[in-house]
Amino acid sequence: MNKYDVIVIGGGPSGLMASIAAAEHGVRVLLLDKGNKLGRKLAISGGGRCNVTNRMDIQDLIAHIPGNGRFMHSPFSVFNNENIIAFFEGLGIQLKEEDRGRMFPVNDKATTVVETLLNRVRMLGVDIRTNTTVKTINYSGESVSEVVLHNGEHIPTPTVIVATGGKSVPHTGSTGDGYPWAEKAGHTITDLYPTEVPITSSEDFIRKKTLQGLSLRDIELTVFNPKGKKIKTHDGDMIFTHFGISGPAALRCSQYVVKALKKFETKTIKMEVDLFPSVSEEALFQQLLAKVKADPKKSLKNLLKGFAPERFLLFVYDKLSLDTQAQASTVTHETFRSLVTICKHFEIEVNGTLSIEKAFVTGGGISIKEIEPKTMHSKKKKGLYFCGEVLDIHGYTGGYNITVAFSTGYTAGKSAAEQVIHK
Ligand SMILES: Cc1cc2nc3c(=O)[nH]c(=O)nc-3n(C[C@H](O)[C@H](O)[C@H](O)COP(=O)(O)OP(=O)(O)OC[C@H]3O[C@@H](n4cnc5c(N)ncnc54)[C@H](O)[C@@H]3O)c2cc1C
Repeated sequence: MNKYDVIVIGGGPSGLMASIAAAEHGVRVLLLDKGNKLGRKLAISGGGRCNVTNRMDIQDLIAHIPGNGRFMHSPFSVFNNENIIAFFEGLGIQLKEEDRGRMFPVNDKATTVVETLLNRVRMLGVDIRTNTTVKTINYSGESVSEVVLHNGEHIPTPTVIVATGGKSVPHTGSTGDGYPWAEKAGHTITDLYPTEVPITSSEDFIRKKTLQGLSLRDIELTVFNPKGKKIKTHDGDMIFTHFGISGPAALRCSQYVVKALKKFETKTIKMEVDLFPSVSEEALFQQLLAKVKADPKKSLKNLLKGFAPERFLLFVYDKLSLDTQAQASTVTHETFRSLVTICKHFEIEVNGTLSIEKAFVTGGGISIKEIEPKTMHSKKKKGLYFCGEVLDIHGYTGGYNITVAFSTGYTAGKSAAEQVIHK
């Protein structure tokens, strides 16, 4: 007889929640993780404050999961963001809502969230083995038969939940180990790529670090295809770095950059920053003319103080070769129109992103076409389940990936237990 009904591989948010759900449904669970600690990536998410979920309604949640979000309708019908909130609050963790629906523990401590999950796992009698690397899963005919560890140990079991995460930030343990086990079972792994990742550029102003460290607030950032058609626009903040651009808006645009470079087989594509997304070009131009009318004797530099971040303006003056000491009334309308154009359409030629290892999230993974969405069960092998980032599902940062991990993890754990019990 098998000692364990269910073996969960990976102790990130998806594996921890899968272990909890399986144990809550009355089966014997073993949780294996190769790290010395569980929940290592969860502990650094949301800037170390742990962005446990997001409080948007289900349609909005799905809209923020650009990588196969529609698949999530079924797992969300089993365990969704409100269930996650109730789960933590039921365990005594008060959560607070921040901008864009992001939910954090009130004490801003990721360790509290991780500890709470671990306490629950322990309380439910789940056996935990850390520093235990799984080498492979063996199948007997059409079913799971055992888990093989790197130390040569074989652990027989009828049910395995693979929760090994993606390939990003490998020091947290996510090194892509789950993909070959899935392939061995007959699953397809879609192309893996970095997403939620800083974007690179070799524009002169990036290479010369002219704007490095400059943050732009409440801008709109757009990715264009080579024919000049908009692919995607995101609003929010961004920052210029020594290699390109980063910050929330850039991270959200990054997957579209990766995909466009690949699709159009080109080395660079154009992005544009709109520093004044809520004001039209004409209105902005009129605003500048009104400023001139009010203070015709001011120098151009003084007139434009506070109009945009100073470092950005200095860069623009240089780019347009403007005499900043010139009296405002002598500056031509054409010059003001050029200034407006550059603020509304600041172009950046970008050439890629940082690596998948440096990305916040891995795009691609185990094809969702081969997974039962109501149970997370493999369509290839009996007793095989997948959850979390190992799947071809990814969301924007803001708690969406963690929500996917908890939701698919809970669904997998519950279904795995029910399968064992009803056998
Ligand atoms: C810095 C950072 C910040 C982030 N911030 C956000 C955010 O704000 N919002 C958001 O939604 N998402 C965020 N994410 C993404 C989110 O953390 C991940 O999507 C989520 O952790 C994925 O959970 P998971 O359980 O699928 O995998 P992981 O958390 O990657 O866990 C996988 C686990 O499997 C174990 N494992 C792997 N291989 C083996 C093996 N062979 N044997 C045994 N164990 C193994 C690993 O040790 C690891 O513990 C962030 C990610 C990073 C890196």
